[in-house]
Amino acid sequence: MEFRLIDRIRERTAQGRDDVRLGIGDDAALLAVPEGQELAVAIDTMVEGVHFLRGTAPADLGWKSLAVNLSDLAAMGATPAWALLALTLPRDGSAAERSHFIDDFADGFAQLAQPHRLALVGGDTTSGPLVISVAVHGFVPPGKALRRAGAKLGDVVMVTGTLGDAAAGLHLLQRGGQEDRHGAQGAYLVERLHRPAPRIAAGLALRDRASACLDVSDGLLADLNHLCEASGVGAEIESALLPRSPALLALFDEASARDFALSGGDDYELCFTVPASRAAEVQADLARLGCGATRIGRIVEGEGVRVRGEDGRWLEPMRQGWDHFAA
Ligand code: ADP
Ligand code: MG
Repeated sequence: MEFRLIDRIRERTAQGRDDVRLGIGDDAALLAVPEGQELAVAIDTMVEGVHFLRGTAPADLGWKSLAVNLSDLAAMGATPAWALLALTLPRDGSAAERSHFIDDFADGFAQLAQPHRLALVGGDTTSGPLVISVAVHGFVPPGKALRRAGAKLGDVVMVTGTLGDAAAGLHLLQRGGQEDRHGAQGAYLVERLHRPAPRIAAGLALRDRASACLDVSDGLLADLNHLCEASGVGAEIESALLPRSPALLALFDEASARDFALSGGDDYELCFTVPASRAAEVQADLARLGCGATRIGRIVEGEGVRVRGEDGRWLEPMRQGWDHFAA
């Protein structure tokens, strides 16, 4: 189907890799997993109106549909290698408009794929409501993958980068394009929504050091709760320690900034646990990698996540994150 569109995608995402024996063009790709490596695979779907606003730039969709998947590989400590792309495109609009969309989409995808040497090896193209599914494949040495299970009592809880920026950016867009009125800071928050930087290098650096790890996609509280459940522990977070960007703190009051950081989605930062004795060393290494890491709390006995406010009192349990099937 739509061979011209597929050709455009293939040309724009071309990436030579010896382990791709047969790429786009046949009924299936043929791939060689390097000797002695495990394959880490993940898939994520983005639906217009659910995961992104109608009218989002195609290049941003290309970047982000890959970024959210690379973030899953990062969280496992895997090195990215290959991807599949299933595109469902609306019929409305001309063939020329579709070609433009595909070109821009593929360029955004390639902009992120290239520095990671990731090869797009196949996919599927159909018509219907705008839906983008990307599956990624990466390598990890046997037994070395970072998992959600493994956090231990007394471990410290850390996150890379800053939290809440993307949710704040979405908030600005939803209020009717007001990001323009907020200059460089508004633009920064919207950029964090549209162009998340998957923390691949950080994930690799955390192998053999983090006791548990996941990426924050649904909001810190919701995702840390998953890590706690998998590990059979609880966590205590200090809201005063949450890393927040200068842009977020400049445009929003303290309570909103805290809410975005705790419950907003789309951060694509890594949340992980390390033995207290290794926290400083890990922090220094991730600072060197550019994203930085901040200690935000600790692992405790019990279950669930509690948050201590700036005044030292426990916060009321709050909205934990996004649930697609909630009433
Ligand atoms: P088939 O009917 O055998 O599935 P398709 O026409 O769907 O073949 O696909 C032809 C080739 O193009 C296959 O190699 C497939 O992997 C690739 N392909 C199709 N759609 C995409 C896409 N959106 N991105 C990348 N490769 C694609
Ligand atoms: Mg097909």
